[in-house]
Amino acid sequence: MTALVLLEIEHGEVRQASRSAVAAASRFGDVDVIVLGEGAEAAARLPGVRNVLSAASLTHDLAEPAAALLAAHTSGYSHVVAAASAGGKNILPRLAGLLDVQPIPEVVEIKDENTFVRPIYAGNALATVRSSDTIKVLTIRGSSFDPVSKEGGSATIQTLNAPATEDFSRFVRVELSKSDRPELESARVVVSGGKGMKDAEHFKLLEPLADKLGAAIGASRAAVDSGFAPNEMQVGQTGKIVAPELYIALGLSGAIQHLAGMKDSRVIVAINMDPEAPIFRVADYGIVGDLFTILPELEKAL
Ligand code: FAD
Repeated sequence: MTALVLLEIEHGEVRQASRSAVAAASRFGDVDVIVLGEGAEAAARLPGVRNVLSAASLTHDLAEPAAALLAAHTSGYSHVVAAASAGGKNILPRLAGLLDVQPIPEVVEIKDENTFVRPIYAGNALATVRSSDTIKVLTIRGSSFDPVSKEGGSATIQTLNAPATEDFSRFVRVELSKSDRPELESARVVVSGGKGMKDAEHFKLLEPLADKLGAAIGASRAAVDSGFAPNEMQVGQTGKIVAPELYIALGLSGAIQHLAGMKDSRVIVAINMDPEAPIFRVADYGIVGDLFTILPELEKAL
């Protein structure tokens, strides 16, 4: 069996979640990868990769042409795998549609080549699913598979010509937020704020704490919806899934949809004035009190 992994490249490097996808795919046998736009050289250095299919002309990760390109190159592959990132979740279901197979999203465990474990009901239950499709199309949760390292491989690079597709969508512009902080989904430490941060101005109080800990900053959906933090910081069922070594939740109740995105964190610290807040049920350490008093004390202690 051979798996084909759709890689995502950021700042010239293969994203950590994609390197986790390579690790997961290696369970099936040989691994080839496909790269849209630049980045074939970085992909070729990944250990365990046999061939890199490079579609340098597809520069903007538009889902329709990407899915069409993948569909044209799946022959001979038993599995197509991508990270369950915004890109993977955009492209792979379309590919599954084109191939007329069932996509298997957010896989957290591979039992065998046909059997996969994935969360359902906002992460409250795990379903074991078996697929009889001839080609399995799956996205994997990066936090559930240790990534392969960045260096060590020497795969061959094969250039692909992207097929012409109907003009369903077109690239307009990209707006990247600039941040020196670690990427939320792969950060070792995450400091997250909720509605209890009061407003956007007070939400910024998390920054010095995050700086001290080298942490990424996350937010609840309520905090995002209230304009305290940008959308890309949202953690949870409809946001990002994180599993850092340390997750510090401030002024955040711990709604089931939020827990779905962070409950696999190794150590969870919660600061909340309500002793009944559900976040304390998953927290390893809890501080009941006003975050605006505790936050400066914590920072000082650090
Ligand atoms: P609240 O529930 O309002 O909690 C604020 C907390 O702050 C309270 O516990 C309060 O005691 C505490 N607090 C207030 N002031 C202070 C203070 N001074 N000091 C200390 N503590 C204080 N939510 C997500 O987060 N992520 C998702 O991906 C997500 N997806 C969703 C998908 C669906 C389909 C639905 C229906 C909902 C989703 N939600 C999601 C929303 C979720 O249900 C909650 O509404 C949201 O998580 C609540 O955010 P919060 O904890 O910040 O706010």
